[in-house]
Amino acid sequence: MDALKILFAASEAFPFAKSGGLGDVIGSLPKALAKKNTDVRVILPKYSSIADQYVQKFKFLMHFNVKVGYEEHYVGIFEYKTDHVTFYFVDNESFFSRNQLYGDYDDAERFIFFSRAVLECIPYIDFFPDILHCHDWQTALIPFLLKEQYHWHYLNTKSVFTIHNIKYQGLYGFNDLNPLLNLEYFPSAMEFYNKLNLMKGALYSADLVTTVSPSYAEELKDPYYGENLDGVVRDIDFKLHGILNGIDESVYNPQTDSDIFTQYTTFSGKVKNKKALQEYLDLPINPDIPVLSMVTRLVEQKGLDLVAGVIHEILQMDLQLVILGTGESQYENLFRELAYAYPKKVCACIDFDESLSRKIYAGSDLFLMPSKFEPCGLSQMICMRYGTVPIVRETGGLKDTIQYYNCETKTGNGYSFKTYNAHDMLYTIQAAVGLFYDYKSDWQQLVQNCFNTHFNWDMAAETYLYFYRKTTNKL
Ligand code: ADP
Repeated sequence: MDALKILFAASEAFPFAKSGGLGDVIGSLPKALAKKNTDVRVILPKYSSIADQYVQKFKFLMHFNVKVGYEEHYVGIFEYKTDHVTFYFVDNESFFSRNQLYGDYDDAERFIFFSRAVLECIPYIDFFPDILHCHDWQTALIPFLLKEQYHWHYLNTKSVFTIHNIKYQGLYGFNDLNPLLNLEYFPSAMEFYNKLNLMKGALYSADLVTTVSPSYAEELKDPYYGENLDGVVRDIDFKLHGILNGIDESVYNPQTDSDIFTQYTTFSGKVKNKKALQEYLDLPINPDIPVLSMVTRLVEQKGLDLVAGVIHEILQMDLQLVILGTGESQYENLFRELAYAYPKKVCACIDFDESLSRKIYAGSDLFLMPSKFEPCGLSQMICMRYGTVPIVRETGGLKDTIQYYNCETKTGNGYSFKTYNAHDMLYTIQAAVGLFYDYKSDWQQLVQNCFNTHFNWDMAAETYLYFYRKTTNKL
């Protein structure tokens, strides 16, 4: 069978640029697909924050211009090959030389520019994909434009759109967005209560829509989770599939990870990392006290209002709390204040730090993810890889990956609670801490169950490939 040609268009990919799980996915799914007789390429913005060690190896290919609104903008294309995947980087200093990936006043213009550049570069790089796979709102314009404006240019290209998080839709006022779209007619597929919604356009235009866990695919049809797009999701249910993400087990590997204090494969190696973490964070060094951690964006989605609601009850327990994250100032300040008030119990690292995140995954006993919603969640998979026990709310991918530990059967890989309620979370943390203190052999069994849980990309890549082939009639 011919190698399928797949082009991923996304706004981040580890190790070049990452702000969350999307970066992990785009950094690892293409690698997994490349092992399965496909020609996979990825196109990303060339952010100024990409580490020099990579940029030095980028090869300049060509440049051309694209039009956004009335303005012509320079597009440089760079290339970098690794792990049998070709990465292209779209260069434009005025759009991508910024301190942060997102959050600027002109994000709409930046990613409309990027989307245009992706569609225009195809003949230049001479790679006409069978599948153009776009991710989240930043590249949501591509399936729409492919259908409406570029169809005759790329007759054999089908578009796939993946919802990594429906909360962020690319929703803008009509008068702000429309002048940047260079369309000759009203984009009705994007119309959204007198505004324009890039994600809605993608949901209607893409040939295939996927999301990152089976449970989230179901939840999206419910108004509680659908963020006002639940009706659209119900409409396109016939082409929607939930495919559970994986993690790159070669990147997250306690046996080889050079960011952690001591490489390990067993419980005892983990204890060494815990003591080193406590020392590193200036907490009392005591392996007998459980370390409960969170590595997260500090936003409402992540259940931080539950944590805030019962934080003093949590801190009544004999445990240490470690937080690594950035986000909304109310949560940043809360954790800063707690660290100040409880210096021997709480450590708050208000930062985005990949290396420290690995140290925390390795050195903690418990990892808290009480999310209000969680499309897939990778942190619970990552923490288990490092033998850390997740405590999660049963939603989205958390529900699909974590089973409550059963002391009778010795099965299960964590703790979970169902209702989005602070005291349900508190009781669940208390149960987990109770097991840590009072049932040592069960605790070790649970840690071992976490080590034995694997969510690698092999299966998921196979599933994507099946749907790609079905969409292109190449089964
Ligand atoms: P989301 O994509 O919603 O942020 P995921 O659980 O899918 O959540 O993925 C989060 C990813 O981002 C994980 O790799 C996690 O380790 C990483 N991460 C989140 N916050 C930080 C931080 N402050 N420092 C380093 N890594 C972080």
